[in-house]
Amino acid sequence: QQNIPYALDIRNLYVEFSSRRRTAYAVNGLDLRIPKGCTLGLVGETGAGKTTTALAVLNLIPQPAGRVTRGSISVNGRYVFNDDGNGGSRVCMTERDLEHLRGKSVSMIFQDPMTSLNPVLTVEFQIAEVIEAHEDVSRAEAIRRAGEALEQVGIPRERGKEYPYQFSGGMKQRVVIAMALACNPELLIADEPTTALDVTIQAQVLDMMKKLREKNGTSMLMITHDLGIVADVCDLVSVIYAGRVVEHGTLEDVFDHTLHPYTRGLFDSLPKMNSRKDRLKPIKGLMPDPSKRAVGCALAERCDYAVPRCFLERPAILRRTDEHVVACHLYTSENIVQGGVLK
Ligand code: SF4
Repeated sequence: QQNIPYALDIRNLYVEFSSRRRTAYAVNGLDLRIPKGCTLGLVGETGAGKTTTALAVLNLIPQPAGRVTRGSISVNGRYVFNDDGNGGSRVCMTERDLEHLRGKSVSMIFQDPMTSLNPVLTVEFQIAEVIEAHEDVSRAEAIRRAGEALEQVGIPRERGKEYPYQFSGGMKQRVVIAMALACNPELLIADEPTTALDVTIQAQVLDMMKKLREKNGTSMLMITHDLGIVADVCDLVSVIYAGRVVEHGTLEDVFDHTLHPYTRGLFDSLPKMNSRKDRLKPIKGLMPDPSKRAVGCALAERCDYAVPRCFLERPAILRRTDEHVVACHLYTSENIVQGGVLK
């Protein structure tokens, strides 16, 4: 497993935000690996640390409150953060390297397309600007490539002369995707890219992202709270809770051999197509206060399966298969091989 080239390799990552009054521990020992060409869905509730993790990859954690305190992040074998030798973590890239990383090696798509689009510039100009920032090309060549990028996402190149307000929500998100893919990034991070769109447009945008991924071989980190999107688009799934991955595996592992009570809870909270009677079963309680570090399992207060040990000891990672891992005291190396013990 050691030699697999990962598009993204995050190990034991810790991120915290400090103000004068308190510290919030947003990411708490997160491990995540995306083999090249694969799409990994990072799933969890709001506040679980999904977006903070994505921002850490690009060293874009809001300063000065936020900082990576421990762990390493590497993109295609190049370290963004690594151990500083004193139990902490340090940035390993110069500002110039980071500029190259953002937009050229790694592109990010946000939930609201207007976060990425400038309302007073034509969309063609905005895509061309991204290309010019990362590649030594003439303005005319950049505009030509911007037209190509728009056509890739199903927008006629002539519409490149228009402004963002002349596009619908779904079309704006397509423009943002065209912009993200214009420099052929090695890794695309999509943070809830379809949440702001209505369902039919959502399906179109996801379909287009799948086709582009297949065509260009781009690796992808899909951040979502929607397991339907994960089933549709991803090869691998990591379930995150309170800043830590609690279950990870292939789609089949996580969907058909669910191990973690929190993952089970996410499935139970989905509406079922074939049952009118079943009421949605929300996960009871709230996420733990991020300013308090859990002594044991962070889910203990909300978990129907909790035993006394869960409140005292943080569960270690146990492996069911090469890919499928879980952090939960319900499992031992003997019972995990049979799959889930959840009822
Ligand atoms: Fe529930 Fe305990 Fe497993 Fe945590 S370790 S998920 S509290 S059973």
